[in-house]
Amino acid sequence: MYISDKNKQLNTYDAIVIGSGISGGWAAMELCKKGMKTLLLERGRDVKHIVDYPTATLNPWDFKAGLNNTMKDREIDPVQSTAYSPADKHFYVSDAEHPYIQEKPFNWYRGYQVGGRSLTWGRQCYRLSDLDFEANHQDGFGVDWPIRYKDLEQWYSYAESFIGVSGNRENLKQLPDGEFLTPMELNCIEKHLGDSIRKHDEHRLLTIARVANLTRGWDHRGPCQNRNLCNRGCPFGGYFSSNSSTIPAAMATGNLTLRPFSIVTEILFDEQQQKAKGVRVIDTLSNEVYEFYAKIVFVNASTIATAGLLLNSVSSRFPDGFGNGSGQLGHNLMDHHSSAGAYGVHEGYTEQYYKGRRPCGFLIPRYRNLQHDKSLDFKRGYNIQGHGERQEWMDKAQSIDGFGEDFKAQLTTPGPWTIWMAGWGECLPYFDNKVSLDNSRKDKWGQPLLKIDFSFRENEHKMMTDIQHTCGEMFEKAGFKNIDTFNYNKPGGSTIHEMGTARMGHDPKTSVLNKFNQMHEAKNVFITDGSCMTSSACQNPSLTYMALTARASQFAYEQLKKGDL
Ligand SMILES: Cc1cc2nc3c(=O)[nH]c(=O)nc-3n(C[C@H](O)[C@H](O)[C@H](O)COP(=O)(O)OP(=O)(O)OC[C@H]3O[C@@H](n4cnc5c(N)ncnc54)[C@H](O)[C@@H]3O)c2cc1C
Ligand code: SF4
Repeated sequence: MYISDKNKQLNTYDAIVIGSGISGGWAAMELCKKGMKTLLLERGRDVKHIVDYPTATLNPWDFKAGLNNTMKDREIDPVQSTAYSPADKHFYVSDAEHPYIQEKPFNWYRGYQVGGRSLTWGRQCYRLSDLDFEANHQDGFGVDWPIRYKDLEQWYSYAESFIGVSGNRENLKQLPDGEFLTPMELNCIEKHLGDSIRKHDEHRLLTIARVANLTRGWDHRGPCQNRNLCNRGCPFGGYFSSNSSTIPAAMATGNLTLRPFSIVTEILFDEQQQKAKGVRVIDTLSNEVYEFYAKIVFVNASTIATAGLLLNSVSSRFPDGFGNGSGQLGHNLMDHHSSAGAYGVHEGYTEQYYKGRRPCGFLIPRYRNLQHDKSLDFKRGYNIQGHGERQEWMDKAQSIDGFGEDFKAQLTTPGPWTIWMAGWGECLPYFDNKVSLDNSRKDKWGQPLLKIDFSFRENEHKMMTDIQHTCGEMFEKAGFKNIDTFNYNKPGGSTIHEMGTARMGHDPKTSVLNKFNQMHEAKNVFITDGSCMTSSACQNPSLTYMALTARASQFAYEQLKKGDL
């Protein structure tokens, strides 16, 4: 490809960010705020805040088949249709159009658009603690994290203060408190379970979820109206997304160029300078190939796509993938498991009806493998997430027969209070849980298909059994009836917390990134999406990506100023 000097100049920026989801939006905002001319490349279409939320105010009966997917949806999108409904289908890719290879079943849920999965995420925000940052070092599984909680603490506060997180301070060592807005309220059955847990076990407690939903107006957004329709995009800006928050803030600096419809296919290596010089892009509207250049590159395409992009970026210096001297790139893929839990029915509180449309549930923070219970037969731990509600007509409509007045009366009589809860559990970093490329099979852009080979192992399965047991036990002690302890045995990817394919570490021989998310082997490349995670902990991870991104952006900026990049 010939590129004239003039075009090269036009296509040159201070920084390039690949991917505009949760972590890419943060990188773009931070770099733009520091005065850097930043190109944000996004493979999908543009989604403008408010304007492009076509279903945000629709009722179930406004959709052709209610909120049910059709047989055709399930056929064309066997994976994505298990996550989407007609209300948010437009924020998910089509499996038929974007295939990947599952060596073993793995649900790779994706949203290719400006904002990525920040539009559809569940907004749960939890800090990791030193219990998590020290875990690999303590039990020898995986490599040591090159950072500790104190390195990230101020950046967690910084991220929370920008996005707005509602929640309760609980003063727990394993789940540090943050900068919280007023918490949402537990309902009567959740309070009942919480009281019982507090009475029976000094090491457990139940608290309201910590979520990026605004309980008061915040930085020109919100407040949340408690509609529980967040996955459609929020016209009130009541929850954090790249579209409502980071991208507008980056735009406001005048330093951002946002380029949708731009698939980055390669990071280009400069053999002379021994660093990245830019990226190669396919414009999906014109099919033209372009090159863009910058002093630094932030890779935020999300864990699996980032691994694929780096593996596809080969050169004589990096024949096995960009920055892959360690041979770890694509390996150590993790996802939380969330299959095991329990459901129970309570016969009390029949005089209380209020369920509301609160857009979050509750959390029972990790209580396993802390100081007090060292004798368990699995490593690490899990937290419990769930919600309580009173059965209403929709819950009963499927299970009762009849017609006429009698039927109507049965339907309109509220059922009992119920609680569903499940464990979100840590997955260990196994080398052979991995992402690779199949060069013999290509997508419609001529790019090799991604191959995912992942399974949960003995440690995760033992943890699931323990979750069933402890959830059942908490329900029993709280007087619940008809307790059903379940294990859905969902495949990897189902919790949508993929992590670990380009991990951070002290040693370039065993890791891809250093303690500032900087590539060991190409100093001007930073990776701050989930691929950087050295272990998975059990907390929903996106807040950690935001904090790491803000920290890495500051480091990159300082290095650049010093002339070290
Ligand atoms: C239903 C659901 C519920 C969730 N709930 C939670 C939760 O409660 N808490 C939590 O912490 N996390 C949750 N998550 C996970 C969370 O959404 C992800 O952790 C987060 O979005 C990851 O951020 P990211 O920037 O790495 O990737 P994404 O947000 O996925 O963004 C990646 C972007 O990169 C683009 N891209 C990919 N490849 C390329 C390429 N080659 N060139 C250019 N652009 C590219 C994509 O189109 C996309 O826009 C949930 C996710 C879903 C779907
Ligand atoms: S529940 Fe709140 S944040 Fe979610 S869509 Fe409604 S108003 Fe917006």
